[in-house]
Amino acid sequence: MSAKPILWIVIPCYNEEQVLPITAPMFLNKLKALADAGKISKNSRALFVNDGSKDRTWEIICDLAKQDEHYIGICQSRNRGHQNAVLAGLMEAKDKCDITISIDCDGQDDMNAMDQMVDEYLAGCEVVYGVRSKRETDTWFKRTTAEGFYKFMNLMGAEVVFNHADYRLVSSRVLNCFADYEEVNIFLRGMFPLVGFKSTSVYYERAERIAGESHYPLKKMLALAFNGITSLSVKPINIIAGTGVIVSLLGVIIAIWAIVEAFRGNTMAGWTSTVCIICLLGGMQLVSLGIIGQYIGKTYLETKRRPRYIISERTWESKDRHWIEEDQQ
Ligand code: UDP
Ligand code: MG
Repeated sequence: MSAKPILWIVIPCYNEEQVLPITAPMFLNKLKALADAGKISKNSRALFVNDGSKDRTWEIICDLAKQDEHYIGICQSRNRGHQNAVLAGLMEAKDKCDITISIDCDGQDDMNAMDQMVDEYLAGCEVVYGVRSKRETDTWFKRTTAEGFYKFMNLMGAEVVFNHADYRLVSSRVLNCFADYEEVNIFLRGMFPLVGFKSTSVYYERAERIAGESHYPLKKMLALAFNGITSLSVKPINIIAGTGVIVSLLGVIIAIWAIVEAFRGNTMAGWTSTVCIICLLGGMQLVSLGIIGQYIGKTYLETKRRPRYIISERTWESKDRHWIEEDQQ
């Protein structure tokens, strides 16, 4: 008899009546295979989070829960978007299991990567990012926009793991620390790196959606990127401040040039004073905006009340993992 970690797979579902009947048994089989391989407890679960679907998704989840005790579900009072659905599932799971794996319900993320994720966890990692190695099945447009998304995010100071969406293993220990991040605008894939702890990545190939349609058109992706940047980074404010300094310097140079031209008699009356006022005031205004922005940025970060430190080990505590309960087998 040996202790094994309890795994909860957290699966957000929004209007997924077409895919759920196909992918749900695949999740169950994966749980069984992992348990049979002796990697996880037989008490593991597949947790479906219904994100206020307008179709039969919740009925399907309820039926599944009646069929097999390994299927469980929670229903949100209305649609709140993918990120909040995943968060709801993770927070529901955090005290009832040892590890969670969040994954989309459309079969696009290769479930076989879970084996490697659990192996990495058993080897000591607390967060394991699923990273897409290829995107050949995505259209050229989706691939280019999605990869541009990660590059732009990093450029704007929001650190994200390249090509990692929300397919991720997180231990309950990390989730309990994560619960202290109480901010409302959440961008999960950029927040877990902030929490820290030992992490690694596993690579998988992204498949096509088994059925139904994507809920992430370009408009939503742009909104997600904008939310991610403004939630994680104040770099755009720094860019404004930096631009202000450059514009001010240029303004001084142009003003000097305008005065020189005036003395050389190349200008019309009133031109020099107008140019000087525009250039100097324009620069000053941008610099002032940048300085005010710095205060707003600080206030913004303070209002999030994020934890200032998180302790991962103590010498007087055993490093051995304590599973929630002993697996009886
Ligand atoms: N989803 C959700 N709430 C929403 C939109 C999507 O819970 O408002 C779920 C959806 O059911 C799926 C996952 O989020 O499990 C990813 O959505 P989708 O496959 O449409 O996005 P894509 O893979 O095309 O980026
Ligand atoms: Mg999808």
